[in-house]
Amino acid sequence: RGALNLSLGDDSARASHSQGRERIINLDHGDPTVYETFWRQMGDKTSITIPGWQSISYFSDATNICWFLEPEFAKEVVRLHNVVGNAVTEGRHVVVGTGSSQLFLAALYALSPRDAAEPISVVSAAPYYSSYPSMTDYQKSGLYKWGGDAESYEKEGPYIELVTSPNNPDGFVRGSVVNRRQGLLVHDLAYYWPQYTPISSPADHDLTLFTVSKSTGHAGMRIGWALVKDEEVAKKMTKFIELNTIGVSKDSQLRAAKVLRAVSDSCDQEREGDSFFNFSYNKMAHRWHHLRAAVQRSGMFSLPSFSPAFCTFFAQVLEPQPAFVWLKCEGEIEDCESYLRGHNILTRSGKHFGVSPKYVRISMLDTDDNFTHFLDRLSAIQSS
Ligand code: PMP
Repeated sequence: RGALNLSLGDDSARASHSQGRERIINLDHGDPTVYETFWRQMGDKTSITIPGWQSISYFSDATNICWFLEPEFAKEVVRLHNVVGNAVTEGRHVVVGTGSSQLFLAALYALSPRDAAEPISVVSAAPYYSSYPSMTDYQKSGLYKWGGDAESYEKEGPYIELVTSPNNPDGFVRGSVVNRRQGLLVHDLAYYWPQYTPISSPADHDLTLFTVSKSTGHAGMRIGWALVKDEEVAKKMTKFIELNTIGVSKDSQLRAAKVLRAVSDSCDQEREGDSFFNFSYNKMAHRWHHLRAAVQRSGMFSLPSFSPAFCTFFAQVLEPQPAFVWLKCEGEIEDCESYLRGHNILTRSGKHFGVSPKYVRISMLDTDDNFTHFLDRLSAIQSS
């Protein structure tokens, strides 16, 4: 597996490899540790120092609708979208959140009608991101409730549709499917970045969610942002975050600004070294190449097939290489998750995404070490 350039050469790695059957490989979560090597190479370029007297106030910019938004962070968000070409920022209000997860709830709060006789339905086409149903319903809100698969949604009246593109779990590019007059759309574009999918055009929607978790891989920073067209919606989302956490950590916003600036700089000064998206694209390409080979050899599983498309960022026709593998067990195996668990590989069953347990979702964003062990394990399955 030389081309993967993974750190399996040392003795400790070989020792754990020889005990490989015992080791549990957990690829259930999408923890994006894959980019750690890039950020290590960047050294101090993304380090920040925050003196004790700084960022003391609740407020960042009292004149902004989103009064806890750090201007430096907002500036870098706009710059990065312009560099990548994946979202229109003109005429948009930026709302920052503690991860895009908080903004998801803020969006539901902001879009729900106040005077409705019953909670508005929140729908998404299956397979949908497994957290949407639980995040929607865990507080039993009187404003909104989970309405299931958007493909089979037939109720009249207003509804909220979540459009995830490219989609978690299956990686396909998506548009809304209900398409009725009173639909309110939330576009979750967590994965609309060049390492995962060809950038076709700048996204131009009413309410779009992004996160550093999947773009730069800094999930622990807990920073997401929304681009919001309507001022009233931006105000309500801000109000939700005020009621929920009285703002968003300034320390994290300042760190996020530094990280986003480093990404944009790396794209602008490519001659001086690998840009972040070159690094991350190549990383995903290597992983997908080796994964496809392992799956093909096994003959037991199948993968979705994606159409190549022109990427405006890389100025080439490229294939999607999603952050997750959406694997289907072929043949007699009905419960793919249990089957793989029997081989000490932890995945997430299709049933959590509103579809058959013949499918599982497997993270492609874990460490090199875990990913290499996973490929070895997958290869061992077909030979046993
Ligand atoms: N939306 C989608 C589609 C995701 O996959 C994730 C992370 N798994 C999130 C939102 C949440 O991201 P964050 O870490 O920004 O809360």
